[in-house]
Order: sequence, then C-alpha cells, then structure tokens
Amino acid sequence: MNKGKKLYEGKAKILYEAPEKGFAIQHFKDDATAYNNLKKSKIEGKGVLNNRISEHILINLNQIGIKTHLVKRLNMREQLVHLAEIIPVEFIVRNIATGSLTKRLGIADGTVLSKPLLEYSYKNDELGDPLVAREHVLAFSWAEEDELNLIKDQCLRINDFMQGMFRGVGIKLVDFKLEFGRINVEGKKEIILADEISPDTCRLWDIVSEKKLDKDRFRKDLGNVMQAYHEVARRLGIMPEETNISEVKFNKPTALKFKKK
Ligand code: 5GP
Repeated sequence: MNKGKKLYEGKAKILYEAPEKGFAIQHFKDDATAYNNLKKSKIEGKGVLNNRISEHILINLNQIGIKTHLVKRLNMREQLVHLAEIIPVEFIVRNIATGSLTKRLGIADGTVLSKPLLEYSYKNDELGDPLVAREHVLAFSWAEEDELNLIKDQCLRINDFMQGMFRGVGIKLVDFKLEFGRINVEGKKEIILADEISPDTCRLWDIVSEKKLDKDRFRKDLGNVMQAYHEVARRLGIMPEETNISEVKFNKPTALKFKKK
C-alpha cells in the first residue's frame, strides 16, 4: 500500500496518510526513548515485534467488543488504522504499584492494589505528561463526561481481558497505558482504542521469577531488551515465523536477523 505524506512522528511510531480518507498507516520504529526523551536508543527489531504483539492484542480486544483503530496489519512494520482524533490523555491502569506511582506516593514497590487504579495523564511531552484529575480532563474539554465514562468501562474490561490473557502464559500484567480517539461514523463521533499495546506500553512480569519482560529493561539498563519482547511474543504464540532466533544476539540493543524461507 502506498504511503502518503507524514502526518505525525512520535517517539516510537510514524503516522502516514493512507490512500483513502479517514485512514492512516502506522509505522513502528525501532527507536526507544525513556525519561521524556532524555534516554534514547535504537533497538533493532523492536518495531517488528511491537507491530505483531499490538496487532494480536487489538484483534483479541475487538473480539470482545472493544472498538479499535486497527484495520489490518500490512507488513512487518506497518498497520492500516482508522485516523482518529486523539484525546490528549493517557489512561493508565495499574494492578500492582510500581514506577511513577511508587515514587509519587511512597508506596512500596510491588504492592498489589485491592482493585485496579485508573489514572489520567495530560499527553504533553514538554510538561512530561503530568498526572491530572478527571476534573481537569472535563474542565479543559479534552473529553466529555459520557466519553470518560465509556473509556473508564473499557479500560477496566481491557484490564480484565489482558490480565487473563497474560496470566495464561505466565505473565503478570502490572500496569499499562491506553490512548483513545474519536472517529466519525455516519456523522456521529465514536470512541475507539488507538495507539498500541505492547511491552513498550505495559509492565509485564514473569509470574514466578518476577523478571521484567517490558520497556523497564531499557529504562533501567537491565539488558536483554529484545530477548524479553521476544519472550512475550513467543508466549503469546505470535513469534514471526521468519525470525531465526538462533541468530539473535541479545546483550546490547542489537539486530534481529530475518531469514527468508
Ligand atoms: P509510569 O507512570 O509508572 O511511568 O507508567 C505506568 C505505565 O504506563 C507503564 O506500563 C508505562 O509503560 C506506561 N506509560 C506511561 N506513560 C507512557 C508513555 O508516555 N509512553 C509509553 N510507551 N508508555 C507509557
């Protein structure tokens, strides 16, 4: 599919115009950033794995009735998606306290929350995506009340579904970030799940060893980033067939080599 002009370039993805109005091509880069762009690197093969993992999760969510922007995966790095008007809020769902929650409130790392906690961050790189209240979202008209109610329901359903899916493959879903947008359907605005769901946007711990299988390996210099992402894809049963794992070197951010059959 021919790409049109670049619409937006983010830290890990690029959005291009698609041949048809209302659609876009989402390209997954290998770039990794952390701490609001202070730490940057390229992790070869990351975009390919995130494309596959996110496709798998969004297809499954669609099957339980969550509307998503995904139309179809086009190739190793690209997806055809509905072009949504993104709500400038990151919706963060937490099951276990870690990351910014523990820093902010002094809660012990690893504390299991009695029920899922939904947080809102204002999507603004210059400000470092600050935590905001639901009231801020309403006060600045980033979203309407009925939209926020629907999104909250969907966040909790997505959490239930993903917790089960990951538990089945020996992974704890610690927390994750979602983004939602609006599209026009027959003159009416409809909320859809946008962006991606992958080890870049979730915290995933092995159930037994609590080994981190997500972007914290990059954030905290734990090494073996690609090995962890690969492990998630493998456990979910979606490892790209053409990946020859014996050729992958894992210690530094490194190249995944793909062998044509
Ligand atoms: P924390 O607020 O603890 O840093 O992050 C909570 C969860 O949301 C983590 O799973 C983290 O990966 C995800 N998250 C929060 N903000 C962002 C962001 O700007 N980009 C990405 N990729 N993930 C985020």
